[in-house]
Amino acid sequence: MPYSIFGNKFTQHSGITELMDDLNAGVQGGDDILMLGGGNPASIPEIQTRLTELMQELLDEGNLVNTLSNYDGPQGKNSFIDALATLFNDLYDWDLSAKNIMLTNGSQNAFFYLFNLLGGNFSEGKKKKILFPLAPEYIGYADASVSEDAFVAVRPKISELENGLFKYNVDFDALEIGSDIGAMCVSRPTNPTGNVLTDEEIIHLDQLAKENNIPLIIDNAYGTPFPNIIFEQVTPFWNNNTILCLSLSKFGLPGARCGIVIANPAIIKAMSNLSGIMALSPGGIGPEIALPLVKTKEILTLSDEVIKPFYYKKSQQAITLLQQQISTPNFKIHKAEGALFLWLWFKDLPISSNELYKRLKAKGLLIVSGHYFFPGLEQQWQHTQECIRVNYAQDDEVVKRGIAILAAEINALYK
Ligand code: PLP
Repeated sequence: MPYSIFGNKFTQHSGITELMDDLNAGVQGGDDILMLGGGNPASIPEIQTRLTELMQELLDEGNLVNTLSNYDGPQGKNSFIDALATLFNDLYDWDLSAKNIMLTNGSQNAFFYLFNLLGGNFSEGKKKKILFPLAPEYIGYADASVSEDAFVAVRPKISELENGLFKYNVDFDALEIGSDIGAMCVSRPTNPTGNVLTDEEIIHLDQLAKENNIPLIIDNAYGTPFPNIIFEQVTPFWNNNTILCLSLSKFGLPGARCGIVIANPAIIKAMSNLSGIMALSPGGIGPEIALPLVKTKEILTLSDEVIKPFYYKKSQQAITLLQQQISTPNFKIHKAEGALFLWLWFKDLPISSNELYKRLKAKGLLIVSGHYFFPGLEQQWQHTQECIRVNYAQDDEVVKRGIAILAAEINALYK
């Protein structure tokens, strides 16, 4: 059956679908598959216990059934939006009201709305793109536009650091913002690299966005104040020209599909209209479960005292294992500044990173090939074929066995 242009675009192979299929296979495959691909957060016992208690209370009080039996409005559950506004106003001088906040079915859903609102075909035959000022960037952005050719990305500056580490920075000299750019978007911390844009970089990007009359989208799925998987001291950022996206997923509720958008009221209004058409309303379960945590600010203590230390420790353990076992000096790790991933760079890798992914998959290890994470980068760049992303959030034993398989493959390749 012939599909529409839209249908063809959304039924073709996409990196994010392959990734989610692999993730599902990994989850279903039990012990046979070592799942260091995907973006699934860890099952942290303290968080799971607390979530179980909260759900039991909701069940006992009848609020769970109440939430399940009612639609919310297209902007999302009002009680949760109000509680979020209070929380953010207590923490920062952002002066938010309920008109600045909306909920979506996961933040992935918000990016689809945003990229199609701010990029694509405009009147008088004009076309606008979404600019990623620092590639590599999140794989999930890659196909989230109904228009072809909707993204443009800029290569980073690379600084080699001590102890086999490196870091990407925005190359402001290469960043060109013409009239064909509808918005800029960065993830902070970045999936896949664990990079955290510095305060100076964010301030500079904000200034450029304002000068060019476009919004700056900051994807804070891993950032502060929750889940706070961020290991650098940086300042949270928002103003009227910023669209800040958060999520309950990496706090431990990916199945609840709850994204949070903070923006000026005009953007929230536009996005709520989209939400009404596409989804009627976002799901209410995640907001209902998290509501007491936001009201009491327990979401902050759990993030600071449980989630952040949990991931920090795991990231350091994974770095130690990798550096002990991979012997080539061509191996570098991006400085782990946040998120759930390590970004590994194998300089002059004798095969492509995708071929490496296939060889590892055949041995029962799933990682993600780095080439997916350069949406919008038009230039050929060997670096895009030399990196992989490893999720270190899984059980220690799984990470250890996975790293042993990876190290054996890499050491053989460089022999
Ligand atoms: N942004 C980033 C950087 C991510 O890594 C993810 C998921 O892995 C998302 C957004 C989307 O997450 P969700 O839709 O679960 O909120």
